[in-house]
Amino acid sequence: MMKKGLLIVISGPSGTGKGTVCKQLLNIEKDIKISISATTREPRVGEIDGVNYYFIDEDIFEKQIENDEFLEYAKVYDNYYGTPKKYVIEEIKKGNNVLLEIDIQGALQVKEKYPEGIFIFILPPSMEELKKRIIGRGTESEADINKRFESAFEEINYVKEYNYYVINDEVEKAVEKIRGIIKAESCKVTDN
Ligand code: 5GP
Repeated sequence: MMKKGLLIVISGPSGTGKGTVCKQLLNIEKDIKISISATTREPRVGEIDGVNYYFIDEDIFEKQIENDEFLEYAKVYDNYYGTPKKYVIEEIKKGNNVLLEIDIQGALQVKEKYPEGIFIFILPPSMEELKKRIIGRGTESEADINKRFESAFEEINYVKEYNYYVINDEVEKAVEKIRGIIKAESCKVTDN
């Protein structure tokens, strides 16, 4: 019987560099399929519809919720984000590994529905470093920086809901750790 693909879920507080880690992982592991999320937020400069996200209106998003088209969805900073179910299920069935880079609320929903997924939490090397990284973006006011830092601090408690943690002190090293996790998980004896 053909082995199913792995559902790999990566999350972590903002400022941990999870986006960069995921990008680099996908550059090396070309066979991993990335799930493109739907969102109601406005595209940022350079973002392309159907590549970075499916940018859709709120009424359409809500229709899709009603139609049970999402594996999970969440409201993050006043915008909806969701993982279209169909693509993920099809790719896993075909034996392909699928990566979801989603927030913690979403990851907890996926864990409920698909506990055999692999849940990886990206951590900053330290809280001082996290604050530096959030400040380093230079786009936020001091109040916003403090808000992000506080929520990042709270979010770190959720690491216990995940199967693995990876400290992102250096991107290359973090990526190697994730590759190691995926290799080991691919060799796991399972009943499916
Ligand atoms: P951004 O707007 O910066 O692209 O993403 C904001 C947050 O939404 C990030 O933490 C990102 O991981 C999360 N996110 C992106 N796509 C999804 C999704 O499909 N579902 C959930 N729950 N979170 C998502």
